[in-house]
Amino acid sequence: MPELPEVETTRRGIEPHIEGRMITALTVRQPKLRWPVPEQLSEWVTGARIHSVTRRGKYLLINLPGGSVMIHLGMSGSLYMVSSDQPAGYHDHVDLVLDSGMALRLTDPRRFGSVLWQPAGQQHLLLEALGPEPLSSDFTAAYLQQRCAGRKQAIKPFIMNSQVVVGVGNIYANEALFGAGIHPKRAAGNISAERLTRLVEEIRIVLARAIEQGGTTLKDFVGGDGKPGYFKQQLNVYGRGGEPCHHCKSTLKEIRLGQRSTVYCPECQR
Ligand SMILES: [Zn+2]
Repeated sequence: MPELPEVETTRRGIEPHIEGRMITALTVRQPKLRWPVPEQLSEWVTGARIHSVTRRGKYLLINLPGGSVMIHLGMSGSLYMVSSDQPAGYHDHVDLVLDSGMALRLTDPRRFGSVLWQPAGQQHLLLEALGPEPLSSDFTAAYLQQRCAGRKQAIKPFIMNSQVVVGVGNIYANEALFGAGIHPKRAAGNISAERLTRLVEEIRIVLARAIEQGGTTLKDFVGGDGKPGYFKQQLNVYGRGGEPCHHCKSTLKEIRLGQRSTVYCPECQR
Protein backbone atom coordinates (compact mmCIF):
# COMPACT_ATOMS: atom_id res chain seq x y z
CA MET A 1 0.00 0.00 0.00
CA PRO A 2 1.47 3.40 -0.89
CA GLU A 3 2.35 5.19 2.36
CA LEU A 4 3.12 8.88 2.90
CA PRO A 5 6.77 8.62 1.76
CA GLU A 6 5.74 6.92 -1.48
CA VAL A 7 3.06 9.54 -2.09
CA GLU A 8 5.59 12.32 -1.46
CA THR A 9 8.05 10.55 -3.78
CA THR A 10 5.31 10.40 -6.42
CA ARG A 11 4.63 14.12 -5.92
CA ARG A 12 8.29 14.96 -6.48
CA GLY A 13 8.47 12.58 -9.43
CA ILE A 14 5.53 14.04 -11.35
CA GLU A 15 6.00 17.70 -10.36
CA PRO A 16 8.61 18.65 -13.01
CA HIS A 17 6.47 17.05 -15.73
CA ILE A 18 3.12 18.65 -14.88
CA GLU A 19 3.75 21.99 -13.15
CA GLY A 20 3.01 24.90 -15.48
CA ARG A 21 1.34 22.60 -18.05
CA MET A 22 -2.15 23.06 -19.46
CA ILE A 23 -4.62 20.17 -19.21
CA THR A 24 -5.97 19.48 -22.71
CA ALA A 25 -8.23 16.55 -21.79
CA LEU A 26 -9.25 14.23 -18.99
CA THR A 27 -9.85 10.64 -20.03
CA VAL A 28 -11.80 8.51 -17.57
CA ARG A 29 -11.98 4.88 -18.67
CA GLN A 30 -13.32 3.58 -15.35
CA PRO A 31 -15.15 6.05 -13.08
CA LYS A 32 -15.94 3.43 -10.41
CA LEU A 33 -13.02 3.90 -8.08
CA ARG A 34 -13.37 3.97 -4.28
CA TRP A 35 -15.69 6.91 -4.87
CA PRO A 36 -17.01 7.71 -8.35
CA VAL A 37 -14.93 10.15 -10.38
CA PRO A 38 -17.15 13.29 -10.58
CA GLU A 39 -18.97 13.34 -13.93
CA GLN A 40 -18.15 17.01 -14.51
CA LEU A 41 -14.45 16.70 -13.67
CA SER A 42 -13.43 16.81 -17.31
CA GLU A 43 -15.33 20.10 -17.79
CA TRP A 44 -13.75 21.60 -14.69
CA VAL A 45 -10.15 20.77 -15.57
CA THR A 46 -9.91 20.98 -19.36
CA GLY A 47 -8.10 24.14 -20.46
CA ALA A 48 -6.79 24.89 -16.97
CA ARG A 49 -3.12 25.37 -16.19
CA ILE A 50 -1.52 23.44 -13.32
CA HIS A 51 0.14 25.93 -10.97
CA SER A 52 1.44 23.43 -8.41
CA VAL A 53 1.23 19.90 -7.09
CA THR A 54 1.06 19.53 -3.32
CA ARG A 55 0.30 16.80 -0.82
CA ARG A 56 -1.94 16.60 2.25
CA GLY A 57 -1.63 13.30 4.12
CA LYS A 58 -1.79 10.67 1.40
CA TYR A 59 -3.74 12.90 -1.01
CA LEU A 60 -2.01 14.51 -3.97
CA LEU A 61 -3.48 17.86 -4.94
CA ILE A 62 -3.06 19.02 -8.52
CA ASN A 63 -3.82 22.69 -8.10
CA LEU A 64 -5.62 24.64 -10.82
CA PRO A 65 -7.07 28.17 -10.69
CA GLY A 66 -10.61 26.87 -10.02
CA GLY A 67 -9.77 24.09 -7.59
CA SER A 68 -7.69 20.97 -7.07
CA VAL A 69 -7.81 17.47 -8.47
CA MET A 70 -7.41 15.23 -5.39
CA ILE A 71 -5.81 11.89 -6.06
CA HIS A 72 -5.49 9.06 -3.52
CA LEU A 73 -3.60 5.90 -4.50
CA GLY A 74 -5.63 3.59 -2.26
CA MET A 75 -4.20 0.08 -1.87
CA SER A 76 -2.57 -0.47 -5.23
CA GLY A 77 -2.62 2.77 -7.22
CA SER A 78 0.32 4.39 -8.95
CA LEU A 79 0.84 7.44 -11.12
CA TYR A 80 3.31 7.89 -13.89
CA MET A 81 3.98 9.87 -17.02
CA VAL A 82 3.36 8.36 -20.45
CA SER A 83 3.26 9.68 -23.99
CA SER A 84 -0.40 10.66 -24.46
CA ASP A 85 -0.77 8.23 -27.39
CA GLN A 86 0.50 5.23 -25.44
CA PRO A 87 -2.31 2.61 -25.43
CA ALA A 88 -3.95 2.12 -22.05
CA GLY A 89 -3.87 -1.20 -20.24
CA TYR A 90 -6.82 -2.77 -18.44
CA HIS A 91 -6.02 -1.09 -15.09
CA ASP A 92 -5.19 2.36 -16.51
CA HIS A 93 -8.34 4.15 -15.35
CA VAL A 94 -7.63 7.87 -15.70
CA ASP A 95 -5.35 10.03 -17.89
CA LEU A 96 -4.74 13.73 -17.37
CA VAL A 97 -3.57 14.76 -20.84
CA LEU A 98 -1.18 17.71 -20.99
CA ASP A 99 -0.16 20.20 -23.66
CA SER A 100 3.36 18.69 -23.58
CA GLY A 101 2.15 15.57 -25.38
CA MET A 102 2.49 13.59 -22.16
CA ALA A 103 -0.24 12.31 -19.86
CA LEU A 104 -0.34 11.65 -16.13
CA ARG A 105 -1.79 8.13 -15.91
CA LEU A 106 -3.43 6.48 -12.90
CA THR A 107 -3.12 2.70 -12.77
CA ASP A 108 -4.99 0.92 -10.01
CA PRO A 109 -5.72 -2.82 -10.19
CA ARG A 110 -7.80 -2.93 -6.98
CA ARG A 111 -9.59 0.39 -7.54
CA PHE A 112 -9.43 1.59 -3.93
CA GLY A 113 -7.85 4.81 -5.13
CA SER A 114 -9.83 7.94 -5.90
CA VAL A 115 -9.88 11.01 -8.15
CA LEU A 116 -11.95 13.79 -6.61
CA TRP A 117 -12.37 17.55 -6.83
CA GLN A 118 -11.88 20.28 -4.24
CA PRO A 119 -13.20 23.66 -5.38
CA ALA A 120 -10.86 26.61 -4.74
CA GLY A 121 -11.33 28.17 -1.31
CA GLN A 122 -13.02 25.10 0.16
CA GLN A 123 -11.68 22.16 2.08
CA HIS A 124 -12.84 18.73 0.98
CA LEU A 125 -14.60 16.74 3.71
CA LEU A 126 -11.93 14.02 3.49
CA LEU A 127 -9.19 16.51 4.35
CA GLU A 128 -11.04 18.33 7.09
CA ALA A 129 -10.44 15.92 9.97
CA LEU A 130 -6.79 15.22 9.19
CA GLY A 131 -4.19 15.78 11.92
CA PRO A 132 -0.97 17.72 11.28
CA GLU A 133 1.70 16.73 8.77
CA PRO A 134 4.40 14.78 10.65
CA LEU A 135 7.24 16.71 9.01
CA SER A 136 5.67 20.12 9.61
CA SER A 137 6.24 22.47 12.55
CA ASP A 138 2.66 21.76 13.71
CA PHE A 139 3.62 18.27 14.84
CA THR A 140 5.35 18.98 18.12
CA ALA A 141 5.90 17.14 21.39
CA ALA A 142 3.50 19.58 23.09
CA TYR A 143 0.81 18.76 20.54
CA LEU A 144 1.28 15.00 20.95
CA GLN A 145 1.25 15.28 24.77
CA GLN A 146 -2.01 17.18 24.64
CA ARG A 147 -3.60 14.57 22.33
CA CYS A 148 -2.32 11.62 24.42
CA ALA A 149 -3.41 13.03 27.80
CA GLY A 150 -5.87 10.72 29.53
CA ARG A 151 -6.00 8.28 26.61
CA LYS A 152 -6.02 4.55 27.44
CA GLN A 153 -5.62 3.39 23.83
CA ALA A 154 -2.34 1.64 22.99
CA ILE A 155 0.19 4.12 21.57
CA LYS A 156 0.73 2.26 18.29
CA PRO A 157 -2.83 2.42 16.91
CA PHE A 158 -3.06 5.91 18.45
CA ILE A 159 -0.22 7.33 16.34
CA MET A 160 -1.52 5.47 13.27
CA ASN A 161 -4.81 7.40 13.49
CA SER A 162 -4.73 10.07 10.76
CA GLN A 163 -6.81 12.39 12.96
CA VAL A 164 -3.89 12.48 15.43
CA VAL A 165 -1.10 12.78 12.83
CA VAL A 166 -1.17 11.83 9.16
CA GLY A 167 1.07 9.36 7.41
CA VAL A 168 2.32 7.10 10.21
CA GLY A 169 1.67 3.78 8.49
CA ASN A 170 2.32 0.40 10.06
CA ILE A 171 5.99 0.06 9.10
CA TYR A 172 6.78 3.58 10.33
CA ALA A 173 4.84 3.14 13.60
CA ASN A 174 6.78 -0.05 14.37
CA GLU A 175 10.13 1.56 13.57
CA ALA A 176 9.47 4.85 15.39
CA LEU A 177 8.33 3.10 18.58
CA PHE A 178 11.47 0.96 18.54
CA GLY A 179 13.60 4.07 18.03
CA ALA A 180 11.86 5.79 20.95
CA GLY A 181 12.06 2.71 23.22
CA ILE A 182 8.28 2.68 23.74
CA HIS A 183 6.28 -0.56 24.00
CA PRO A 184 3.58 -0.56 21.28
CA LYS A 185 0.87 -1.59 23.78
CA ARG A 186 1.63 1.12 26.34
CA ALA A 187 -1.37 3.38 26.97
CA ALA A 188 -0.97 6.68 25.10
CA GLY A 189 -1.80 8.63 28.26
CA ASN A 190 0.86 6.83 30.28
CA ILE A 191 4.04 7.98 28.53
CA SER A 192 6.27 10.72 29.91
CA ALA A 193 6.68 14.03 28.09
CA GLU A 194 10.34 13.24 27.56
CA ARG A 195 9.54 9.95 25.82
CA LEU A 196 6.81 11.53 23.67
CA THR A 197 9.36 14.13 22.57
CA ARG A 198 11.61 11.31 21.47
CA LEU A 199 8.70 9.64 19.67
CA VAL A 200 7.98 12.81 17.68
CA GLU A 201 11.65 12.92 16.66
CA GLU A 202 11.68 9.24 15.67
CA ILE A 203 8.51 9.58 13.57
CA ARG A 204 10.12 12.48 11.72
CA ILE A 205 13.37 10.53 11.23
CA VAL A 206 11.78 7.36 9.83
CA LEU A 207 9.53 9.27 7.43
CA ALA A 208 12.25 11.66 6.28
CA ARG A 209 14.61 8.75 5.66
CA ALA A 210 11.99 6.89 3.62
CA ILE A 211 11.29 10.00 1.53
CA GLU A 212 15.02 10.50 0.97
CA GLN A 213 15.38 6.89 -0.21
CA GLY A 214 12.33 7.23 -2.46
CA GLY A 215 14.10 10.16 -4.11
CA THR A 216 16.65 7.80 -5.62
CA THR A 217 13.91 6.21 -7.76
CA LEU A 218 12.46 9.37 -9.33
CA LYS A 219 13.57 8.44 -12.84
CA ASP A 220 11.04 5.58 -12.79
CA PHE A 221 8.14 8.01 -13.16
CA VAL A 222 8.60 8.45 -16.89
CA GLY A 223 7.69 5.39 -18.91
CA GLY A 224 8.37 3.09 -15.96
CA ASP A 225 5.90 1.32 -13.77
CA GLY A 226 5.63 4.22 -11.33
CA LYS A 227 6.58 2.12 -8.35
CA PRO A 228 9.54 3.49 -6.44
CA GLY A 229 11.75 0.97 -4.66
CA TYR A 230 10.90 2.16 -1.19
CA PHE A 231 11.14 -1.12 0.67
CA LYS A 232 14.88 -1.36 0.33
CA GLN A 233 15.45 0.63 3.49
CA GLN A 234 17.04 -0.87 6.56
CA LEU A 235 14.34 -1.83 9.07
CA ASN A 236 15.05 -2.51 12.75
CA VAL A 237 11.88 -4.40 13.70
CA TYR A 238 9.22 -4.52 10.96
CA GLY A 239 9.25 -7.95 9.30
CA ARG A 240 11.89 -9.20 11.78
CA GLY A 241 9.77 -11.05 14.39
CA GLY A 242 11.81 -13.92 15.94
CA GLU A 243 15.11 -12.36 14.85
CA PRO A 244 17.67 -10.77 17.22
CA CYS A 245 17.30 -7.09 18.21
CA HIS A 246 19.96 -4.94 16.54
CA HIS A 247 20.65 -3.25 19.90
CA CYS A 248 20.52 -5.95 22.58
CA LYS A 249 20.31 -9.28 20.67
CA SER A 250 17.08 -10.28 22.47
CA THR A 251 14.54 -12.08 20.28
CA LEU A 252 12.05 -9.63 18.75
CA LYS A 253 8.41 -10.43 19.49
CA GLU A 254 5.62 -10.29 16.92
CA ILE A 255 1.99 -9.72 17.94
CA ARG A 256 -1.22 -8.48 16.28
CA LEU A 257 -2.37 -5.11 17.51
CA GLY A 258 -5.43 -3.52 15.89
CA GLN A 259 -5.20 -6.25 13.19
CA ARG A 260 -1.73 -5.06 12.23
CA SER A 261 1.56 -6.91 12.51
CA THR A 262 3.49 -5.43 15.42
CA VAL A 263 7.11 -6.26 16.16
CA TYR A 264 9.01 -5.01 19.18
CA CYS A 265 11.95 -5.74 21.43
CA PRO A 266 10.77 -6.83 24.91
CA GLU A 267 14.04 -5.49 26.40
CA CYS A 268 14.49 -2.16 24.60
CA GLN A 269 10.80 -1.11 24.56
CA ARG A 270 8.93 -0.43 27.80
ZN1 LIG B 1 16.55 -4.86 22.13
